[in-house]
Amino acid sequence: MADRHVLCCKACGTTLTRAVEIVLRADSESGTPDWTPKKPVTPPGQAFRMTQAYAWSTDPSTAVHLGHVPIEFLNVDDIGPSVKLTRKSQYLNGCCGLDGCDGPNQICQCGNEIGTLKSDCWTPHTFIPFPDGTRWEVESTP
Ligand SMILES: [Zn+2]
Repeated sequence: MADRHVLCCKACGTTLTRAVEIVLRADSESGTPDWTPKKPVTPPGQAFRMTQAYAWSTDPSTAVHLGHVPIEFLNVDDIGPSVKLTRKSQYLNGCCGLDGCDGPNQICQCGNEIGTLKSDCWTPHTFIPFPDGTRWEVESTP
């Protein structure tokens, strides 16, 4: 059986998600993730890891939010209770939900920025970990 991983806060070590299976998705793979608005990108319990950025700029010297690779996409249901909404209002844009376009809108209970939630009517529904604020750990089996 494949290892399952939990996402942890790099600052305080708090567990941020349920244990998930990380599935590698090659760019050329058929059946690329489903970007349909309001639909989850992955089923609960699975994270997709891709080597193609979600967002990019035509100017390669410009850093773009969600332009990092590899990039992972999680099901919103796998986010744990220690994850909170940021207080930075400039990251909380959206129509009837969060579009996640401006910056990491999810923080750990310690205040560290840990990821971006997309939950708007025109975005797929997913959680994307912020690599600078998180690390993956293999689930410890009792
Ligand atoms: Zn933390």
